[in-house]
Amino acid sequence: MHPDLEKLIQLQEAELQIKNYSDRIEQLPRHLAALEEKLSGALQSLSRSQERLAKLALEKRKLEGVIQDFEQKNSKYREQLIDVKTNEQYKALLHEIEFNTNQIRKTEDEILTKMEEEEKLRRELHQTEQLLQKEKAIVNSEKRAAEAEVEQDKSILGELQLLRQNLIESVVPSVLETYHRIARFRKGIALARATGDSCQVCHVRIRPQVLSQIMTGESIVTCDSCQRILYWKPDGPYEVSS
Ligand SMILES: [Zn+2]
Repeated sequence: MHPDLEKLIQLQEAELQIKNYSDRIEQLPRHLAALEEKLSGALQSLSRSQERLAKLALEKRKLEGVIQDFEQKNSKYREQLIDVKTNEQYKALLHEIEFNTNQIRKTEDEILTKMEEEEKLRRELHQTEQLLQKEKAIVNSEKRAAEAEVEQDKSILGELQLLRQNLIESVVPSVLETYHRIARFRKGIALARATGDSCQVCHVRIRPQVLSQIMTGESIVTCDSCQRILYWKPDGPYEVSS
């Protein structure tokens, strides 16, 4: 094989892996946000319950105020009972007092209903909080795993970049220039393997004369159809896929 071709194959592999690792590293913030998103259901349910509890407390205070008003009216009427002159006035005041007392009972029942709702909400809130704690622990460990993985990716990426740099420096500049030019317009794939009698990437037949040129490895040969640099690698039982 042409001495530079061996290096170009390694360079191609390194560059593809660099892209792969860079993409994975770039994905991290999105991946972390997606993990965080798993908590949103429990968090929303928590804030809804908290809002409802705050509203219930306000409604209860308001109803307590209503009871206080009726009680004040009743104590005023009871004082007036002492001074009334006629039976009708007395009856009318008693009627008012009875009406207000009924209103007080009704309002007390309303408060009780709200207290029951409060109790139910508190229980639910407690359950949601416990669930959230569990989910948070899972999400945090998933986040740590993802971050650790990216740390590892970064160190591999560093090694790959070093390897790439070394390869670039060791390849004849004109060959490297050809490689880069093809890579630019072929989405980063500048090399193609020749198998049988065709280019493995574009599947166009390679002329026998060209094929023997590739097999001797004396010069850099490009595919007539896709323009990629061709290299020869026979099929065999010990073949390493590339
Ligand atoms: Zn081709």
